[in-house]
Amino acid sequence: MYPDDFETFEVDDDEPVEDPFLVASPMIRVHDLSESVFCSRAGVISLAKSAEDSDTEPNLGPKLSGFWNFDEHRFNEAINQTLLKSVLMSVLFAATCILGIVGATYSVIWIPVAYFAARWVGPQAWRSGYRLFNLVLERRRLLQASCDDFAVRPTKVQYLSWWVLRRFGFECILPDDLLSDDREKVVGKPWRILQLGDDILVPVVRKHRGRNTRGPQHTVRLMAYCYLIERCTNAKSPFGVLLFNSGDQCVIIPNDGEHRSEFWEALHDFRELLYNGPNAGALLVDPPGSRCSGCEFGRPRKYRAGVTTTILDGEELAPFLDDGFHSDCGDRFCWCPLHSNKLARMEKESENFRSADV
Ligand code: SF4
Repeated sequence: MYPDDFETFEVDDDEPVEDPFLVASPMIRVHDLSESVFCSRAGVISLAKSAEDSDTEPNLGPKLSGFWNFDEHRFNEAINQTLLKSVLMSVLFAATCILGIVGATYSVIWIPVAYFAARWVGPQAWRSGYRLFNLVLERRRLLQASCDDFAVRPTKVQYLSWWVLRRFGFECILPDDLLSDDREKVVGKPWRILQLGDDILVPVVRKHRGRNTRGPQHTVRLMAYCYLIERCTNAKSPFGVLLFNSGDQCVIIPNDGEHRSEFWEALHDFRELLYNGPNAGALLVDPPGSRCSGCEFGRPRKYRAGVTTTILDGEELAPFLDDGFHSDCGDRFCWCPLHSNKLARMEKESENFRSADV
């Protein structure tokens, strides 16, 4: 059905580990590694926060209206059930409205009936109608998806619909356990895994916000999961999938030599950064471009002693205050990141200043 000569990660378990950065390295989560590709400081903060985090990903980003694991059969079943509920709710809503409005002209006792229709039955009817619309829309996308341009061993980065993968035969499963590799000290769990037969497992990660573009951090993240899948299971992982924030669009990134070397390089750089600690040069340089503007670690919050305190590695940090505001990154690296909220506050202050001047 598909070729079995996939390019794979090759790690020799018999080869002794000599890299001093690796020997001294803590277990690195895939999430922290990809943060470090986005910004070195973000990687360090994320690693320091990991003790507080759970393994479960926050329920953000694309959800495909909750139908990510649906096939045609499940869509048909759900459409029939929702259609029935929608018709029932609409009839009930219309009946209670008419009864309430007509009855109210005779007696005030009918007013609660009209109120019940407006408050309870109406939203129910609206919700089932909306779900029905989404179900029909996504089933249409599934049925229209064409697998002609898709190969199970892709040779290039490719943008396509999620439904192409489902139509091709990939089952979407929720991974149970963390994937962990003690040799390279990497651990993580992708959002979902696409399974084809018994020997192909493909990691899926999501982009929580922003445009439908990918950055190097997404490539590193997916290659890290491909690596973990190949190390922890007997399956091959020929590519990874990044699912975008909205709609059904995703991008597939081949597990080839070029992308694997991006992963190894990022892992080496992050270990070196951790090894050198606060003296690491990359931590002393402000990140390029406007990365801080949308970064959660740089989001300023009003300081309230004992309530908003930054805790990293189990320790409370002294707040680095900027006009009564502080942030995780500001406290950790003693500076004021240019977050979009800070820029908006500065803009507002200068407007107030100008209007006071006039
Ligand atoms: S606020 Fe800026 S410097 Fe700090 S972690 Fe985020 S991107 Fe990096």
